[in-house]
Amino acid sequence: MARLFADKAWLADGWRRNVRLTLEAGHIAALETGAKRAPADDAVALLVPGLVNAHSHAFQRAFAGRSEFRGPAGTDSFWTWREQMYGLAGRIEPRALAAIAHQAYTEMVASGYTSVAEFHYLYRDPSDPAVVDAMLAALVEAADASGIRLIYVPVLYERGGFGGQALSSGQARFALPFDAYVDHAERAARFLGPAHSLALGAHSLRAVTPDSLRRIAALARERALPMHVHVAEQRLEVEDCLAVTGARPVQWLLDNLDVDARWCLVHATHLDREELARLAGTGAVVCLCPSTEGNLGDGLFPLAAWLEAGGRMAIGSDSHVTIDPREELRWLEYGQRLQQEKRNVAAAPDRGTGARLYSAAVEGGAVAAGLPAGPGIATGMPADLVALDAGCAALAGHSEATLLDALLFCGQPSPIERVMVAGAWRVVDGRHATGADTLRRYAATLASLYDGPGG
Ligand SMILES: [Zn+2]
Repeated sequence: MARLFADKAWLADGWRRNVRLTLEAGHIAALETGAKRAPADDAVALLVPGLVNAHSHAFQRAFAGRSEFRGPAGTDSFWTWREQMYGLAGRIEPRALAAIAHQAYTEMVASGYTSVAEFHYLYRDPSDPAVVDAMLAALVEAADASGIRLIYVPVLYERGGFGGQALSSGQARFALPFDAYVDHAERAARFLGPAHSLALGAHSLRAVTPDSLRRIAALARERALPMHVHVAEQRLEVEDCLAVTGARPVQWLLDNLDVDARWCLVHATHLDREELARLAGTGAVVCLCPSTEGNLGDGLFPLAAWLEAGGRMAIGSDSHVTIDPREELRWLEYGQRLQQEKRNVAAAPDRGTGARLYSAAVEGGAVAAGLPAGPGIATGMPADLVALDAGCAALAGHSEATLLDALLFCGQPSPIERVMVAGAWRVVDGRHATGADTLRRYAATLASLYDGPGG
């Protein structure tokens, strides 16, 4: 049992002073406000809950910054990016995945993410269970080494489009047959151990058949697991879905499946008014990935209407063009401001934009991860915590009314001083313990991926 004392901590109802936490077995066993600090207490100035990174493709960390040249046709889009990304995916074996994911997960923990939902379809050789499991083992190795909590989301991928098109050669390495997918998920559940957990995923409506989607959803329901799916990221996807099924993607999901609070819809960028109202009412989480959605030119999610309707949201760093929850949340709001020519789109009547977005992402992220969820630090939650440096220039002079707004909207430097996952400090004095070695191995891996044979 350990005790952690915070001068100020962000709880479900906002900042509270003199908060003393009792930590036991990686969880918050007790919480007292207006408490007295005991000499043996570990002490911090400002304490906020860590965030769940609710959508990651760890291998794409190795692709960041490598698709920013315009192609000869001048028609660069999500779809041309995807072809380039497949080129990298084809070269990644388990050792490379471990090195890349270790770097990505270390950056996540250093920036205040304490859990990651890894939406994984890079099985490399779907016909060989040993290879499929080795890719999972690489992710778990990276999670353990970085200290992040892994929510492993094995993903079914079985076709090239809504019309049942065959998989391209680039997609073939993603395609586990349905029964092999279920077997792999069963083995993963056993392999993950108590530190990590399992969710289930279908790549998208275009990449799985309606029947398979129903079967995975039924399995997720039976096992009480979160269910993740990409949806309505691109307009073309909406048009293709309409052409083949007569319904828009989210409309189709709502008409054909029991979407509820266990569902995490990744992107959900292109929603019409009716889909938005119906989806918000289900309690499902939308996972927004503003840096990736911006990088890929996806479009803007209707955030103001979603929050107005009581919708839940999480954030994800997805393709990892940036790994920083402050930047994701900042750009989530800035996209809306630029589009609407307004300010403080996500602010609540009683709460600034930063406080509203941070709290919403804490709660929605935990729901998407299948963890105990709430908008602030509370008893019974995992001890996944971030201590902020009250003396950092970003926070200097701010009081409770504006601290979380300053965290998101006060630029650099990062005020993150210490990060705890499951009761263990992984970042101390603003630095992750494994930094230099992780980077060396990552750099060597990049060199072999891009400069070596086949690079
Ligand atoms: Zn994704």
